[in-house]
Amino acid sequence: MTKRMPTDDSMLSGTLPVIETVRKGTAAASGIAIGRAYLMDRRRLKVPKRHILADEIDGEIERFHRALDSSDRQLERIKEKIEARFDDHYNIIAAHQLMLHDEHLVDETIRNIRDKGVNAEWALRKTVEHIRGVFDSIEDDYFRERRSDVEFVGERVLRNLLGRDLQVTPPPDAIVVAYDLSPADTAQFYRAAVAGLATDAGGNTSHTAIIARAHEIPAVVGLEDITAVVGNGDLIVVDGTNGVVVLNPSPETVALYRERARMEAAQGVALLSNVELPALSTDDVRISLVANIDHEDEIKGALAYGAEGVGLFRTEFLFLTRARVPDENDVFRHSCSVMESLGGRAVTFRTMDLGADKMAVFMSELHEANPALGLRSIRLCLSTQVRPLFKQQLRGLLRAASNGNMRIMFPMISGVRELELALEVLSEVKDELSRDGIPFAPDTKVGIMIEMPSAALVADHLARRVDFFSIGTNDLIQYTLAVDRVNEHVAYLYDAMHPALLRLIDMVVKAADAAGIPCGLCGEMAGDMNVAPLLIGLGLTELSMNAVAIPQIKQVIRGRAVRDLRAMGTQALTLPSGPEVKELVWSFLQRGNA
Ligand code: PEP
Ligand code: MG
Repeated sequence: MTKRMPTDDSMLSGTLPVIETVRKGTAAASGIAIGRAYLMDRRRLKVPKRHILADEIDGEIERFHRALDSSDRQLERIKEKIEARFDDHYNIIAAHQLMLHDEHLVDETIRNIRDKGVNAEWALRKTVEHIRGVFDSIEDDYFRERRSDVEFVGERVLRNLLGRDLQVTPPPDAIVVAYDLSPADTAQFYRAAVAGLATDAGGNTSHTAIIARAHEIPAVVGLEDITAVVGNGDLIVVDGTNGVVVLNPSPETVALYRERARMEAAQGVALLSNVELPALSTDDVRISLVANIDHEDEIKGALAYGAEGVGLFRTEFLFLTRARVPDENDVFRHSCSVMESLGGRAVTFRTMDLGADKMAVFMSELHEANPALGLRSIRLCLSTQVRPLFKQQLRGLLRAASNGNMRIMFPMISGVRELELALEVLSEVKDELSRDGIPFAPDTKVGIMIEMPSAALVADHLARRVDFFSIGTNDLIQYTLAVDRVNEHVAYLYDAMHPALLRLIDMVVKAADAAGIPCGLCGEMAGDMNVAPLLIGLGLTELSMNAVAIPQIKQVIRGRAVRDLRAMGTQALTLPSGPEVKELVWSFLQRGNA
């Protein structure tokens, strides 16, 4: 989307007429940032090509080795600067160090120097291109994104060969614009207090998105050509909430965004005044508001927003961001540390939900035509190959459970047989721990995510076999409506108010009630102030969400009677289409506001 509008030159440093341009990307981290672009365009690094003489070959190889050593030392220094709590970043940088010594990178570059008779820079470039090509050919978003790791490492060595400055220190309040960002960069930007991030590449599993979200740096990724259209020092707005970037905004646009940012900040501050208050409706019904967490270092922020605990800890990120697969002891230490940070509040650890858009290194063999319907999540964990790893995770969790307030949750359960298989593995793990004399908490509560229509339809049977439910609507919508949740072409069909979804939620809540077990909901819709009242209207009393949304949702709850929301929920269930449900909820909320 490009909006053409001449801007007032006096606002900007240049004298040429500037055109305001709006670009749409992927919203990676919410918030608004307005600032000057600090361009880091790796692709503009010129790589000199030079044919060398036979007697220069050893010298070039020596130069290449020196550049590798310098790169290694630089990464070591970055690692030293990273505090312990940035454990994942530390591991990624350690993985980059390992790549520096990888035979494919080193041997192929040396071979290129010798066989092709070219300088080290060109030889390295050819090697990186080759490795990148191999990654490109893998039909998987996660692996395609890992190609950027090869590029980061290659660029570092290249800069050392060229003698270019590697220290990128954007000024505070800058908007960093880059093709892609390395974990090392992003960790440094957080400290340098950059205002926002905008990148050409990246999706939801890119490091930029993961780390920006965790540190609340407004970010838009997947903009495709932002580095080509932004100039260093250009004024730029990053609207991380809506996934929009405005280049050379007109004074009116800047004023609008400043106002929005000011309002958001003021609302945020005002809303934070309810942090200590319970989410209690006007007719005294208590709703539990808990956080969805991907990384341990998000916990402090979540508590500051008033999270009463963690309703969904996505443990798969432990497997996605570490250089090596976490073992039982890693899981144990990590879980204990999470529980300690929560100071006695409850946490629900979801066992690894890998596959589809979340591919770990050990899954490199997996090539599927329809990964969202393939060997993912609990199915993968129950597979012969991954089961030992799953058991290690369960061992680590059960051991840690003795030290705090935790529940274990299985994702993507399709029905009773699959649940029984998962429970059998759990009981095997318990038997093995007992046999080994290792202390653990045998009575740890075990629940499941209801995120497949089949599970919702047999929720009555499932409810008799577990301690709790959590409805995962992100996937439940995808599978009910047959709409790929990451495909922008069918996004208009991804309807959180579709009556089919509401009926399934209603069935699940009723099944849980009948069995006397708690039922929460942890899909993104729980944090949407226009939808959460409907969820409470359908009988839910625990909502787990991005913690930033908690103060707003709490405010909505504190202004309504659950009795009225229930009446609205009952009426919603009779309606034939999503837009009609939306209209009902909207007019209900308007009446309340009048
Ligand atoms: C869901 O599917 O609703 C959910 C919370 O899990 P995830 O988004 O991790 O798939
Ligand atoms: Mg899910």
